[in-house]
Amino acid sequence: MCTIFILATLVWTANIFGYGVCTTNGGKEIIWETPDAAYLINDSGGPSGSITAIIEGMQTWTDVATSDFIFSYGGTTTSTAHGINDGNNIVTFGLLEVGTLAENRFFYKTWPPSQEGEGLDSDIRFNTYYSWSTTGSPGTYDVQNVGTHEHGHSLCLADLYTGADSEKTMYGSASSGEIKKQTLDQDDIDGITYLYTCPNLKASIEGTSSEYDVLQYAYDNTPDMGTFQSQATVFVENLFIDMDKTVYLKAGYDCSYSDNILISTINGDLTITEGTLTILSGTLALQ
Ligand SMILES: [Zn+2]
Repeated sequence: MCTIFILATLVWTANIFGYGVCTTNGGKEIIWETPDAAYLINDSGGPSGSITAIIEGMQTWTDVATSDFIFSYGGTTTSTAHGINDGNNIVTFGLLEVGTLAENRFFYKTWPPSQEGEGLDSDIRFNTYYSWSTTGSPGTYDVQNVGTHEHGHSLCLADLYTGADSEKTMYGSASSGEIKKQTLDQDDIDGITYLYTCPNLKASIEGTSSEYDVLQYAYDNTPDMGTFQSQATVFVENLFIDMDKTVYLKAGYDCSYSDNILISTINGDLTITEGTLTILSGTLALQ
């Protein structure tokens, strides 16, 4: 099977844990000033369904509950100004050099020093030298598969190339017919969460403004018959339920505590010696 390299953004990169981030020449991490970016799409030259496929790829990143970054669709454009720092983020189809499946040209501030690394403009192009589809058909490259990867560069996550990275969205090469990059690996989720983490702390007490970065503190401060809440993230701690009180937990919340359909994970022990703990909703997992 033919494997094509997807070229990264034209910036330095550094690996952190199971993901990589982009840095300026001066070593500052590249990040948008606010956690959002809108893209215009020019689907001329792309297969039918391209706009929907590209939006789906953006939404996959937006949906990460532990990050507050939001990609939005700004409508169609007739612009073909790929790689032009004009303040408009665009997605286009056009010719690139052979061997490059798609690319993300990214611009950021280098001055003044206090703003070094702030994102300015990102343009994605799918190389029409290759055959594209929105169906994952054999012999064609899937727009959503590669688009999700390229929008990872927009965050500014970096390409990964070791064998251990091969199932991740940010793995730096793709095959025809491949669709696995449409779904994020935990390391991809950890990457966006590292760069654009929730503004709120990871645990809170329902009906109050009290927030905590440690689940134990949230439990300790929850009154009898009260409810504490946890975000869909990993708590690296041991949780002791050891007070003479009845408390409830709603787990698996998003950044803003508005929806809790996901999983909170304790990477440690859960020990209950006194009182009771009831999981009211969401899911609590032990790791
Ligand atoms: Zn790439």
